[in-house]
Amino acid sequence: MSPDSFELYDLKVEVIAGEKPMVCGHQAGDFFLVEGENLVFDSTRRFSMYALSALLPLLPAKQRPLDRNDWMLSDSLIACPDPNCGARFRITRIGKRVFRHGECTVVPITPGEKGDLQ
Ligand SMILES: [Zn+2]
Repeated sequence: MSPDSFELYDLKVEVIAGEKPMVCGHQAGDFFLVEGENLVFDSTRRFSMYALSALLPLLPAKQRPLDRNDWMLSDSLIACPDPNCGARFRITRIGKRVFRHGECTVVPITPGEKGDLQ
């Protein structure tokens, strides 16, 4: 591990059926992966931009280590933003990936901004 390395979780975001019918064209089992800053659509060719807009704010938090008491750690089922749609989206951590600060930004590490290392 490099002295400027850090880890992020890879995520899988999968469509699962809820209690009501899905009305947005989602298909149960459709998914995409989150690898660092990238969304990876290996097999799912279409994904609702409205559903994506509801998911995007949560993904960077789910990629990072969280306090065991943080609700963001326990809550992994997200509803479609259409109130008439039964689709749910499950966010699962599927692995870890190592990154280096210097490969992600040109901004130097500032002493005193090392999060929990202070
Ligand atoms: Zn929907």
